[in-house]
Amino acid sequence: MAHIVIIGAGLAGLPTAYELRHLLPRQHKITLLSNTPMFTFLPSLPWVGLGLTHLEKVQLEVGELVTKRGIEWLPEAVIQLNPYTQEVHTNAQVLEYDYIVIATGAELALDVISGLGPDNGYTQSVCNPHHALMARDTWQNFLQNPGPLVVGAVPGASCFGPAYEFALLADFILRQRGLRDQVPITFVTPEPYAGHLGIGGMANSSQLVTKLMADRGVEVLENTAITRITSQDIILADGHQLPFRYSMLLPPFRGPRFVREAEGLGDAKGLIPVLPTYQHPTFPSVYSAGVVTQLAPPEVTPIPIGVPKTGQMVEAMGMAVARNIALELGAISAQPVSPTLEAICFADFGDTGLLFLADPVLPDPETGKRRRAITLGGRWVSWMKTAFEQYFLAKMRWGSAVPWFERLGLRAMGLSLLETIPPTEPHPIPKDVLSH
Ligand SMILES: Cc1cc2nc3c(=O)[nH]c(=O)nc-3n(C[C@H](O)[C@H](O)[C@H](O)COP(=O)(O)OP(=O)(O)OC[C@H]3O[C@@H](n4cnc5c(N)ncnc54)[C@H](O)[C@@H]3O)c2cc1C
Repeated sequence: MAHIVIIGAGLAGLPTAYELRHLLPRQHKITLLSNTPMFTFLPSLPWVGLGLTHLEKVQLEVGELVTKRGIEWLPEAVIQLNPYTQEVHTNAQVLEYDYIVIATGAELALDVISGLGPDNGYTQSVCNPHHALMARDTWQNFLQNPGPLVVGAVPGASCFGPAYEFALLADFILRQRGLRDQVPITFVTPEPYAGHLGIGGMANSSQLVTKLMADRGVEVLENTAITRITSQDIILADGHQLPFRYSMLLPPFRGPRFVREAEGLGDAKGLIPVLPTYQHPTFPSVYSAGVVTQLAPPEVTPIPIGVPKTGQMVEAMGMAVARNIALELGAISAQPVSPTLEAICFADFGDTGLLFLADPVLPDPETGKRRRAITLGGRWVSWMKTAFEQYFLAKMRWGSAVPWFERLGLRAMGLSLLETIPPTEPHPIPKDVLSH
């Protein structure tokens, strides 16, 4: 009997737990740990922050959903991990594991810029449920007393889509309320150009995004570093000051403290290096999925930025991890697999939206090209995003990671979550080489 522990019940961890339960015979024990009792569909948080939906509508209580499917549930934060002794610590207990899947998502590096909020600063964020609620309350006050709005991301950020979404949705709401002429909107981004998105741009993303911002009267400051924030101004690297009454700025992401403190587990930012199987290169009992995995940027940019890991990418990582662990335990017979890192993303801008299809998300390092890259716009994208949110929450309620009809639908679009690893790829170090 093996004990598999998964840390984090988010977009990567919860589907991984379901898929492992689906693949492994019941004699293998699966434990899911999370520092919160709730699953949150993070892509909907910009809507929560702008008061367009309620947080409860995009959350699920995890405990009962997983326990009735034979997954042990521990709503406790992991505070320490020893990959040599294969032990994981919470405040209440120590668990031993045969395999661990680290799927904690991002810790927000809010301390990299003085004044970056919301906890100890002046700006808002929509990167976790607590911040989205703070952003919403501040937004309601702002609507009573409007003024300059600054939206964007700071150097080192990797997830730019929600910033564009927030800026254009804010514009939409302000126009609806007849307040737009009282609110100059500035978008500040460390991306070398608008629409780069941390992936070197794709299809006509740059032209589309630039045109949308210009049509909506949003001033865009690209390739721009924010260095400091005071209660009234955002200070740029060239000394320029942007006054603001409301600001939503996305921070850089890093791995959780327990990864940063475990020697040899993560990189300088606490992100976890992985082989194509998503197994750790040094610790064969450690797998990782989601935002906490290390993914090299496709190019060096004048201001450092990271690579976004979108919902479909992290789900595919989880599926690969589940299959590769099942394979190691002899529960299935197949070849090791890797996530394809293809992605479809929907961005809602109120009365229109953009769909991005990147196959794969990162261009080929040699040719600089993707198999496919499509950007489409229209009102229907907003509806698709709502439909997708509801579908994702429904399948998490059903306890099914990727149902057969979803696989079929992806195949019909020429997409797939997983690919077999060619035999020439590096193989994991055998487990007995590195025990203790
Ligand atoms: C505002 C925003 C908007 C986005 N919009 C889109 C979009 O439109 N489309 C898209 O495809 N992607 C979008 N993304 C990206 C997508 O949400 C992420 O790819 C996805 O949530 C990452 O999944 P994850 O499991 O790695 O992290 P998460 O979903 O964050 O889950 C991690 C879980 O681990 C828990 N955890 C953390 N530390 C510990 C610990 N020490 N012990 C125990 N548990 C812990 C956390 O509480 C959390 O529940 C967006 C992201 C954000 C922030």
